[in-house]
Amino acid sequence: MTNPILPGATLGVLGSGQLGRMFAIAARRLGYRVHVYSPDVSTPAGQVSDREFSAAYNDLEQLAEFARSVDVVTFEFENVPAAATDCIQKYCPVHPSKDVLSVAQNRIREKLTLRDAGLAVPRFCEVTTAEELRAAVLELGVPSVVKTASSGYDGKGQAVLHNVGQVEEIWAELATNQAILEQFVDFDCELSVVGARNSRGEIVHYGPFLNTHTDHILDVTICPSGLATDVDARAIDVAHQVFDCLDVVGVLCVELFVTKDGQILINEIAPRPHNSGHLTIDAHNTCQFEQQVRAICGLPLGDTTQHTNAAMANILGDVWNDVDPNWSALLATDVKLHLYGKVEARPGRKMGHITAFGNSINDADRAVREARDSLLNK
Ligand code: AMP
Repeated sequence: MTNPILPGATLGVLGSGQLGRMFAIAARRLGYRVHVYSPDVSTPAGQVSDREFSAAYNDLEQLAEFARSVDVVTFEFENVPAAATDCIQKYCPVHPSKDVLSVAQNRIREKLTLRDAGLAVPRFCEVTTAEELRAAVLELGVPSVVKTASSGYDGKGQAVLHNVGQVEEIWAELATNQAILEQFVDFDCELSVVGARNSRGEIVHYGPFLNTHTDHILDVTICPSGLATDVDARAIDVAHQVFDCLDVVGVLCVELFVTKDGQILINEIAPRPHNSGHLTIDAHNTCQFEQQVRAICGLPLGDTTQHTNAAMANILGDVWNDVDPNWSALLATDVKLHLYGKVEARPGRKMGHITAFGNSINDADRAVREARDSLLNK
């Protein structure tokens, strides 16, 4: 067991979006300095960090300078090239490890790793050509979902196939040479479990969170899930197995489908804090971002007790129509607002989120949706 990295030290984060921003806020509250690295400038994370490196992920000189300036590095998105983590590792530890990153970066590697560990995933086939996709559709049947093996998020790089006649067109649109075809899971609901694990193998978790998506983008998360306790317990158990099989040090989210016949299948994993865990900032003793700090620094993990029923709703760029959102109306309601400092609002872009509470989970769910609707009040 190496010595913990204590407050006063400098933490590095690869990627500079809202997850990096909330990590930096948690880290600075604990007395750490934060350096952030991404190709962009004046980023959501950079705005609240001590130093913002703006350089490409393949700029080994800048990566080395970044790595020399910090005591440990983590990341806030998984598409960091392996060469970047290799370079950084010469100077300081990277958590979660390059191996965990590599599993999460490729949907085929991810599904194979999880399946080999005895965990349940949707049926799938690897495809590298339109002909292979056709054969896979015939094997798995329709509907089925094709996804690029890497770089997809929020439904980007994926399409639902309803008949084999769509194969050529969809394959051309994906413009890839490696993809996965998955059975379409007729799920009852989607859950996620966010957890943290330190180098001693101690694990804490939140949730499960119950998630609803719109256009493949997370829309609303509620916690507790309101599901039967045995479903919650099985989801948590699956997440613990993922943590142990990947030997994760850091925060990781396991996204799950609950099928109509009660099975729990893993959809995907994200080796970092997750959008569904944002409500932990306002509803739990220790939030997912503080856990990320604690886990990568080798500190004891924090208490994950939830104070109150909570619901989180994303605020997308879509609510900036011709006029700005009605912040006064929103802030007259009893919700917590988090905005990410993004200058340009685009449809589908995550600009912020709100968290609401309630005596029941239905009350919290209603409150968060009503508050978000109030942004459109004239
Ligand atoms: P992903 O990027 O894989 O997390 O997919 C985004 C969303 O698309 C998921 O949260 C589901 O709502 C839906 N989805 C993805 N894969 C499947 C599948 N195999 N069956 C049914 N729905 C899916």
